[in-house]
Amino acid sequence: MEESTRALISLRRVSRHFQTGRTKVGALKNVNLDICPGEFVAVMGPSGSGKTTLMNILGCLDRPSAGDYFFQGQPLHEADANERARLRREVFGFVFQNYNLLPNASARENVETPAIYAGLRKRARDARATRLLSELGLSRRLDHRPGQLSGGEQQRVAIARALMNGCQVVLADEPTGSLDSQSGREIMEQLRSLAKQGRTVVVITHDPNVASYAVRQIELLDGRVVTDRSTSEQSCEAVAIAMEENGPAKVAGNTSVNRILTPAVAAAESMRSAFRALSANKFRTALTLLGIVIGVLSVTAMLGIAEGVRRDILETLQDLGGSKLTIQRAPGRQGSPLTLDDAEAIRLQVPNLALVSPQLVGGGAVSAGQEDQYVTIIATTAAALKGENLPLAQGVLFTEQQDNSFESVVVLGATVATNLFDENSTPVGEYVLIGDGLFRVIGVLKPGNSPYSPQSRSVYMPFMTGALRFHGSDELDIIEITVAETQQLEHIENAIQSLLTQRHGGTDFQIANQAQLLEAQETATGILRLMFGAIGGISLIVAGIGVMNIMLASVAERTREIGVRMATGARQRDILMQFVCEAIVVSGLGGLTGLMLALAVGALLSSFDQFQVVFTLPILLVGLSCSLLTGLLFGFAPARRAARLDPVAAIAAQ
Ligand code: ADP
Ligand code: MG
Repeated sequence: MEESTRALISLRRVSRHFQTGRTKVGALKNVNLDICPGEFVAVMGPSGSGKTTLMNILGCLDRPSAGDYFFQGQPLHEADANERARLRREVFGFVFQNYNLLPNASARENVETPAIYAGLRKRARDARATRLLSELGLSRRLDHRPGQLSGGEQQRVAIARALMNGCQVVLADEPTGSLDSQSGREIMEQLRSLAKQGRTVVVITHDPNVASYAVRQIELLDGRVVTDRSTSEQSCEAVAIAMEENGPAKVAGNTSVNRILTPAVAAAESMRSAFRALSANKFRTALTLLGIVIGVLSVTAMLGIAEGVRRDILETLQDLGGSKLTIQRAPGRQGSPLTLDDAEAIRLQVPNLALVSPQLVGGGAVSAGQEDQYVTIIATTAAALKGENLPLAQGVLFTEQQDNSFESVVVLGATVATNLFDENSTPVGEYVLIGDGLFRVIGVLKPGNSPYSPQSRSVYMPFMTGALRFHGSDELDIIEITVAETQQLEHIENAIQSLLTQRHGGTDFQIANQAQLLEAQETATGILRLMFGAIGGISLIVAGIGVMNIMLASVAERTREIGVRMATGARQRDILMQFVCEAIVVSGLGGLTGLMLALAVGALLSSFDQFQVVFTLPILLVGLSCSLLTGLLFGFAPARRAARLDPVAAIAAQ
């Protein structure tokens, strides 16, 4: 076909059928059509004749079931979704009967939509949208919402939107169908002037008056082209010549667009439209937020409480001596016992020790008058007891000389003293009975941090006295080592290990250190944290389901909006991003509020004694990222559903 060589649009044997249940409806049947650049074409026909279907195929909203579509000689029937979106963005501009403006956006924002997806910066968008609206006589309506505009004004906004990205081909589906005759004429004049500027204009109508504005009329009936009357020659060359005669025509070129910028511009717009959509439905947004707030609050508070408990236990353990090693004979009492000589060897040969305390340890009853109590009896050297730095409340500690001469003297722990003697009396100078021996009290210790600390529940006596009275030998029960620096603990433990192994000719002893205790403690609190975290996590999942529910409702409600955005050139990923952003904005806001509340609750709980809630930075970050992750996870499926909507079906929704 020679005349098609310069055609802008060529349809060859194009068919489109719809499957509804078992019946197959042929909306278009074997349509052949050529449209030249700059032609003003009216498509007429009764309702149901396939006009809209044709228009959707021309504008790349829909694809033919069979047949070929060439645009500027390029086959479009094979184009993928992204390529079709690009053509809708850059080449085609849609004008619908019911305007299809975004109700929550201003006239200017509506006009800007196609340029967002083309990646045009905000300032350039504003300027161009303002100019287009002014040219259409709407300079005083820039910030009006569609609801505040008349039908004719809304349709002019829609035309401005179609022209936003340049727009080579205007596709108008019954643009005057909802307008009074005066407004209708104005719109048709507008379209005529667009055609005069060199744009190709296709108008669908069933009104012959409207059709008469066009230069060429095509009539459809039952999915077939029945008449194709042209007032000019069929050849596109002739059309071009005729247009020359009407004066020079130039299509406004595509607005300059920075492709690299596109994702950033789209992301910014996604955020803006997220806030717009969320504020349009404040009550629902608040409820969704509440869910997230409670979820994040419980995750964060639970972790904070677990951390508080962990610190508490840790501090207590450190009070009990975080830098101590305890050497004991191996269970089963095989090999040789620990002796004072062992303790002395350790003291002399292992560096960085604060104290080596050889001890005989046993339990027994102590009585004074009517009172008696079961206590830990520790026999140790004068030097070791002094080295412990235990603060005295009364009296003195025993001396090396008292030790060497087996004197029956004791120093009482604070709790022991208060239990045995009444408050007003001074225990120092009194006697206590241990086993069948009388011991003179020479000193009383100050109470420590806790009445249950080992020191306050112990009775100390000279080593030799203890050995003579209770052991019958100088075989040690334990050697307690205090390390000068906690970091050295492991190193020192190894040194002692090898020294004693050498002295004993084998490992007939065991060394316990507080670090192992701390490790066990860490494991226990780790489990605690996991449990508490899981409790919070469950409420976050519930919140996530809430987000998903709202997002699904939002997608269903805004199907038409999605369709319109697609018609103006949004890619699937743009739509995906828009809804994911919405979910993330909700969950982010909820997350921040939840964190704030958690901090407040923590402060409140901590103000009660014996209960500390500790928020570390990682805990707060976990809380926030949990909420964002919830938004992302539960928002993704609804967003993907939105992105995969069929544009034609989406526009037809409601
Ligand atoms: P017109 O715009 O001329 O009124 P349409 O192109 O909208 O006609 O529709 C042409 C025919 O295709 C009609 O019979 C219509 O019922 C059918 N049709 C259009 N879209 C669909 C669809 N999505 N599913 C099923 N049938 C459809
Ligand atoms: Mg129609």
